[in-house]
Amino acid sequence: MISFGPVPSRRLGISLGINNIPTPKICSYSCIYCQVGVTKKHNIILQQFYKPEVIFKKVKKHLDSLDKDNKPDYLTFVANGEPTLDINLGESIERLKEFGIPIAVITNASLLNATEVRNNLCKADWVSLKVDSADEKVWRAINRPHILLDFNTYKENLFLFAKEYRGSLNTETMLVKDVNDNALQIQDTADLIKQIKPTTSYISIPTRPPALNWVNKPDEESLNQAYQIYLNAGINPEMILGYEGSNMGYTGNIIKDIVNICSVHPIREDAMQQLLIKDKADSRIVDYLINNHSIRKVEYNSTVYYIRQFQK
Ligand code: SF4
Repeated sequence: MISFGPVPSRRLGISLGINNIPTPKICSYSCIYCQVGVTKKHNIILQQFYKPEVIFKKVKKHLDSLDKDNKPDYLTFVANGEPTLDINLGESIERLKEFGIPIAVITNASLLNATEVRNNLCKADWVSLKVDSADEKVWRAINRPHILLDFNTYKENLFLFAKEYRGSLNTETMLVKDVNDNALQIQDTADLIKQIKPTTSYISIPTRPPALNWVNKPDEESLNQAYQIYLNAGINPEMILGYEGSNMGYTGNIIKDIVNICSVHPIREDAMQQLLIKDKADSRIVDYLINNHSIRKVEYNSTVYYIRQFQK
């Protein structure tokens, strides 16, 4: 299926997904957490898949079938594989711009050494680059790149693309328990990301069945630690925990407010007290949410935080 959804996305509002890579998955990586399974077609050569006209017609038909109030905020290339392997990606983006809807691309960033790939991505309004680790060994262990990919080239081209790109540049880091989630590793990843100067740096966890079944989510303490390290590095982090939490903050419904905010940012104890006062709520609400496993109390650098509980 070339287009799917629209699906609600915290990053992009309502997003109509575009899959420009045919099945079975073709990718330059074979990430241990990939929800599409192990990569059987490992590839780094750009190819022609669907003609831009075919993608345009499919998306047009899909958009025409939607209700007026269900129109997407973004058309998002989030492929069954690596979208930048498509040699026609730039032309497809140009064609889709006719709909007047911003275009997003979620890429693993491994092919940015190719001028053609960077030029194609520069046509999109919003791009997310995968940065799971700043350490070559960990990169090889978690992303399992194509044998001809080189770590230093990957890093250098993250910087080059960040210089060239004029749209909204974002990063995404998938944290896997005992693979890339210890404090030193996260500090190195944060230092690398800082140099790219992303608008937002998303921290995510595997929420769907991973390619390798030993892959686990980090615990809430590690996730909070990662969030605080990113924040201290001067990055704007946001968590993606598989819940549609929102950034809206205060709505007047204390349970909704706490759960929504905790899904995106850990709430510091003093901020929690302020939220309770604002909502004129009883502090026992926090105990209630802890007891029913909606949130967890964690500590980092002698400060208490509340975070959405995802391990039950
Ligand atoms: S880059 Fe994306 S599609 Fe490719 S293996 Fe990793 S998670 Fe799967």
